[in-house]
Amino acid sequence: MSIDRSNPPLVRVGDLQKYFWENDSVLDRLFGNEPVPVRAVDGVSVDIYAGETLGLVGESGCGKSTMGETLLRLQEPTDGRVEFDGRNVYELSGDELTAFRRDAQVVFQDPFSSLDPRMTIGETIRQPLDVHDVGTETERDERVADLIERVGLSASHLDRYPHEFSGGQRQRIGIARALALEPEFIVLDEPTSALDVSVQAQVLNLLDDLQDEFDLTYLLISHDLSVVRHVCDRVAVMYLGEIVEVGPVDELFADPNHPYTQALLESVPRASTTERKRDRETLTGDVPSPRDPPSGCRFRTRCPMVIPPEHMDIDQEVYRDLMSLRERIERRDLSLESVGDGKFESGDDGVPTADVPAFVAALKTRLLETELPPRHDEIVEDALTELADENWERAAERLRENYESVCERDHPALGDGTHPAACHLDRDTSAQPGELDD
Ligand code: SF4
Repeated sequence: MSIDRSNPPLVRVGDLQKYFWENDSVLDRLFGNEPVPVRAVDGVSVDIYAGETLGLVGESGCGKSTMGETLLRLQEPTDGRVEFDGRNVYELSGDELTAFRRDAQVVFQDPFSSLDPRMTIGETIRQPLDVHDVGTETERDERVADLIERVGLSASHLDRYPHEFSGGQRQRIGIARALALEPEFIVLDEPTSALDVSVQAQVLNLLDDLQDEFDLTYLLISHDLSVVRHVCDRVAVMYLGEIVEVGPVDELFADPNHPYTQALLESVPRASTTERKRDRETLTGDVPSPRDPPSGCRFRTRCPMVIPPEHMDIDQEVYRDLMSLRERIERRDLSLESVGDGKFESGDDGVPTADVPAFVAALKTRLLETELPPRHDEIVEDALTELADENWERAAERLRENYESVCERDHPALGDGTHPAACHLDRDTSAQPGELDD
């Protein structure tokens, strides 16, 4: 089926938010605890056109599955809208909502737990037809017999139970069930990740064939970039609840614009020896908590290209070290008592004045591996001197006024166009670093 982008998209997601709340129980309210939002999906906008497969990729916990479920209204959104065929999904009720439930289906990741072990395969595939009261008894039987053949199994399997099938066969049954109501749109949530590698390709090829046969539109959620490359037309890359890059699959794999996408692609093992020898900027550090995402660009705490202030004369590695130092000071994540094995342990008046230079030198050695150019050495020493008096705020401020990046100050928006990236370095949508620093 060809993809016609001149028509309005089949699915239009606009500024979708899904927060979960912590500290929100009756007891928490009694004790005056403030509710804390966990921002699983935070302002996602993307279009999906009829007949296409949009891949949604990102590390575990980035919000991909929550987005899929919220988009299907299996979870209610916190804010934003999803239009399906021009209708706002969250305003549907009665017959319109029933029709949407028929038109939009899901195939789950785990074929072992998504089938009811007490139901035969025939009953499992037939259940949605019974629930929606589709056709006569005979027509339902015929549809079930047809579907089981379409997914590569046979009518002789219909009286058997899920435990009699392999993982790949169970996923085929899950797909047959999702097709029962003749949907237009299916969310495929990691449909092959629980399967052996040899079976994955068969299931992906089946999905591809069924898309042509039934004019289907897919949202394929996956952490596996090779799967996405194999089947998708376009890809959206998600990081910490946001889409950071979206584009045609070939273009995005050949020329990724966002440093996160670049690092994700670099982390894929390559078969060829020459490829294996290439310089890699792999991902380091953990994904920050969605309870307290970083300011500005959410990827900045792991980005190997974070933008220094203009005219900065130190390399990226040293600059990153200085940013990390400031973040630790801001979080008060340093044990001052243990500096110099405790010999500078301060009383109420801080480290005695005569000991401050030695305290600063000991702290600097512990915190920074690289030697700094004199100008920066002086700034860092000034900041660490504030710590001798436990002036955490002033120490952080001293570093902030010299090293604050536009990446932590300004949130980069995902631009328009066919291949935008939410990064201040994106050639198409953002200004250059010098222009952003005021
Ligand atoms: S905005 Fe800055 S921190 Fe974010 S990806 Fe771009 S360069 Fe990296």
